Amino acid sequence: MAIRNILKASEHNEFLRKKSKIVNDVKSIYDLLDDLWETLHHANGAGLAAPQVGILKRVAVVEIDGLKLELINPIIIEKSDEQVIQTEGCLSFPNQWGKVARPKMVKVETLDRQGNKKTITATDWQARAICHEVEHLDGILYVDNVLEEE
Ligand SMILES: [Zn+2]
Repeated sequence: MAIRNILKASEHNEFLRKKSKIVNDVKSIYDLLDDLWETLHHANGAGLAAPQVGILKRVAVVEIDGLKLELINPIIIEKSDEQVIQTEGCLSFPNQWGKVARPKMVKVETLDRQGNKKTITATDWQARAICHEVEHLDGILYVDNVLEEE
């Protein structure tokens, strides 16, 4: 395992805007998953996506409010109409926060390490973190959604 360098948008905006590729072989990303966890914990964050460490693969990790989740080829399959506005940040934008509206509830379909499909239902901060990380995989950054800078 290794702590990887987190790309900052100030220097790597163009890279962070790229779309990540589908993972075809889950075994090929075990090291990446382990490194994402170690890097996330070192940075004290709630979520980290592979493109933030320079890897354009559809992989991310989320750890928030008792949820510890590995996302592999995640797809948000359902969102509540109800939204919640909260202050959000991103490890690629240090010391920057803004208010973002996110669905109160999402269902995300993902693969686990064995390559099995599973569906996770999450609410509030967990739902927010999942939406944020899934967007990273399409080159969407939270600043695109900010209603109001803080
Ligand atoms: Zn982020």
